[in-house]
Amino acid sequence: MSIGLSIVYLIFIAKNPIKLQQASTYTHNNTDTERRIIRSLEIPKQDLLDFSKDVTENLLQSQINYGDNWIKYRVKKGDSLASIFKKYSISPKVLHAIIKSSSNSKRIAKLKPKQTLKILIDESKTLKELVLIISPVESLKVINEGGNFLLEKIFTETEKRISSAAGVIRSSLFVDGQKAGLSDAQIMELATLFGWDIDFALEIRSGDKFRLIYEEEYINGEKYKNGPILAAEFINKGKVFNAFRFINDSVEGDYYDSEGRSKKRAFIRTPIKFARVSSRFSRKRWHPVLKKWRPHRGVDYAAPTGTPIRATGSGKIIFRGWKDGYGRLMVVKHGGAYTTLYAHMSKFAPKVKLHSRVKQGQTIGYVGQTGLATGPHLHYEFRVNGVHRNPLTVDLPKANPLPTKIFAKFQLQTKPLIVMLGKISANKLFAKKGT
Ligand SMILES: [Zn+2]
Repeated sequence: MSIGLSIVYLIFIAKNPIKLQQASTYTHNNTDTERRIIRSLEIPKQDLLDFSKDVTENLLQSQINYGDNWIKYRVKKGDSLASIFKKYSISPKVLHAIIKSSSNSKRIAKLKPKQTLKILIDESKTLKELVLIISPVESLKVINEGGNFLLEKIFTETEKRISSAAGVIRSSLFVDGQKAGLSDAQIMELATLFGWDIDFALEIRSGDKFRLIYEEEYINGEKYKNGPILAAEFINKGKVFNAFRFINDSVEGDYYDSEGRSKKRAFIRTPIKFARVSSRFSRKRWHPVLKKWRPHRGVDYAAPTGTPIRATGSGKIIFRGWKDGYGRLMVVKHGGAYTTLYAHMSKFAPKVKLHSRVKQGQTIGYVGQTGLATGPHLHYEFRVNGVHRNPLTVDLPKANPLPTKIFAKFQLQTKPLIVMLGKISANKLFAKKGT
């Protein structure tokens, strides 16, 4: 896979991030029939390694002291709590009583294939306990206390640790990121962090360097999963870019460079997720349809008809219709002096009308070959004060820096990370240089 392709793929995945769950973020309602337990699990190392294969089984074994009377049941497609109860001759009344016991107990009836249920029945076929493992950090337990069913949520606390990685680009961010010990998701995160600074499809070079500090979550001393990137640096063609995670008043973390400028920008570089640049910005180009030399004041992205086109920045639609060689055309006016133009569309996104507001990344239309076009592609223009600029290289406007007061906090928080980043350079980066 080429650098370009893999990065486009990475960025696509990174745009759809998986929400990481943390034990501390669960919210729950306590009723008198519910209790919440947090406890540490004694999980053997091998079981942690097997998480991906068999999360539920292993956890279950380590989580609860089972005697010989426990039935371990692996949920299959089409199973319901009712059908499983029937299998073990547990009265339907019991199921009814469990469901009625609390609002949360409905969750235990929502079984998914490959989950594990543990059922404890006594000699008289009475259900004593029922456990459903939901994830390595959460399970539900129902206990029969004299005919009343009590629901417990069992949470596992994870311990956070700091880790680091560094590498030098030899073939691609993907390959060299893996060599540095990063997961695919972390490589995507890294590519997204610097997606505004570096065009990973065009600008990445052999010899470029990266280093980062990230969180890891552990259960009982063994690694469970990666946490967020806390600090990262990417040196591209000798130019240093950095990013620091900064938690402000908002709960969600965001990233800023060392000057306190947000890593998010007013524009994304490319309006199509999966596309090949088929014609670049140039002063003089042989026009394939008009058969004459003309400047090409935009970038062409070849993509199949119907591929969604995204607004590269938030703004207002100032043109929506047919215009000569452009065919079906949309023009977006952004804040300041910026306008972007999208041509040859097969159709417009139905909700995006003239004068309506669009958000960055919103689909405004679909690739086509209307107007003067030899094949399906998007012709994209980027204008500053009405002047055409090369969309692939134009300096995209930076975000405003953090306000002075908050910047002071930011500096306090990032100081130790900067020191740590420096240490990675000595220990890991240069050690890998010769490889
Ligand atoms: Zn064009």
